[in-house]
Amino acid sequence: MSEGSSSHRAIRARVAGTVQGVGFREATRRQAGRFGVLGWVCNAEDGTVAVHAEGTPAAVGSLIAFLREGPPGAAVLEVTVDDIPIEGHEQFAIRGVSAGAFVVQEHAATTRHFDLRLEVDGVMRSWAVPKGPSLDPSVKRLAVQVPEHDIDHNAFEGQTDHGCVVIWDRGSYEQGGRVPWPEALDRGHAVFALHGEKLRGGFALQRTRPGPKPQWLLLKRRDEEARPGSDIVATQPASVLSGRTLDELLGEESRQRSSRSGS
Ligand code: MN
Repeated sequence: MSEGSSSHRAIRARVAGTVQGVGFREATRRQAGRFGVLGWVCNAEDGTVAVHAEGTPAAVGSLIAFLREGPPGAAVLEVTVDDIPIEGHEQFAIRGVSAGAFVVQEHAATTRHFDLRLEVDGVMRSWAVPKGPSLDPSVKRLAVQVPEHDIDHNAFEGQTDHGCVVIWDRGSYEQGGRVPWPEALDRGHAVFALHGEKLRGGFALQRTRPGPKPQWLLLKRRDEEARPGSDIVATQPASVLSGRTLDELLGEESRQRSSRSGS
């Protein structure tokens, strides 16, 4: 589906009534699949269901007809439909549903860095971010792709053979974007929303250099969780698990090491 393709139609719909908590999103996803419609559905904060749909006019019309009816258990009061430009989606996804865990571990090894890990298909896909994440949308942070980790490692905080780790942030995340995951990662552009204690809202990972150690940029998207001019790794250094900072943990480690060596 190409931008501005005249044989396709894109709409944004709002469905009001008794529409949340009645299986509306899943039923809409199923119908979209039947009709060959792409886009997304989500529960809006005002109690409505929001839908982005694009496809042939007939297919989009069929989905709108379904929205006016709703699944059994729903009571649709009103559907508003606006025609909008085609965005080029390659899936029909339910948004606002957790895809799994995320964790950011601050890690002192040969160098100090933050490890961003996102759960994808049962493992933690990982990026080492030397300067750490930012909530400032104008800041682009280098993120070097590193080997996947086991989910068990998410809970690890403490001393390692070669340094220390603290759990700087953690929570759940949602996969976003027009391309389904993990294909979005394979293609080098992945959009996601974090629900952490420090990091919240939309982020993007954009691969800038492929190869054995692929380089990406980590960006905060512009949304209500963005904090222009902020420096969250400086202002909120403490572990969300223990309240300790990596510096405190490293200080303990060096004291233990010097007391073991008897000095
Ligand atoms: Mn690391």
